[in-house]
Amino acid sequence: MDFRFHGGRASVNFTATVGKRWHDGGFERLSEPAALGRWFTEAGLTEDDPHCSLADLRHARQLREAIYRLMLARMGRARPMPDDVATVNAWATKPPPTIELRTTASGLRVQRAQVTTPALLAQLARDAVDTIGDADGHRLRECTNPECSLLFVDTSRAGTRRWCSMSACGSRDKMARYRSNRN
Ligand SMILES: [Zn+2]
Repeated sequence: MDFRFHGGRASVNFTATVGKRWHDGGFERLSEPAALGRWFTEAGLTEDDPHCSLADLRHARQLREAIYRLMLARMGRARPMPDDVATVNAWATKPPPTIELRTTASGLRVQRAQVTTPALLAQLARDAVDTIGDADGHRLRECTNPECSLLFVDTSRAGTRRWCSMSACGSRDKMARYRSNRN
């Protein structure tokens, strides 16, 4: 199953691992632990699959849904739930993956320690705190395609971006308008 990376931030893309949320709770793209490992690598958070466990997957989904609900709250669509704030904060205070500089024959290189799923979830939680709590939090949007529902950060200067992706939902909208103009 393909993942979607149109959100502009890792934590926003993480919420896109549930598709079509408008329909019956949506469909789960993280259907098994291996899918979570694949998401981490495709998201560019690590080069090595952290070999997630079932418990990791359960924690990831819990964190993801807390992040999603708080993003909706930031968009004025719901009240922020104290449990969700607590969940995100608990992960955000855990240590993220460590990196350090190493001197090699070819110069200075970044050395990443062996990553773990809890460290990657901590990194996502920190990104969510930043995305939701930062002054730019008002740029969080939901795609206006009613059959999409993905979130994204609108970084356009005018702040008028409507779709998660121009090539997917944007062109669909254009095509629909073209057809209705012809009829
Ligand atoms: Zn969309």
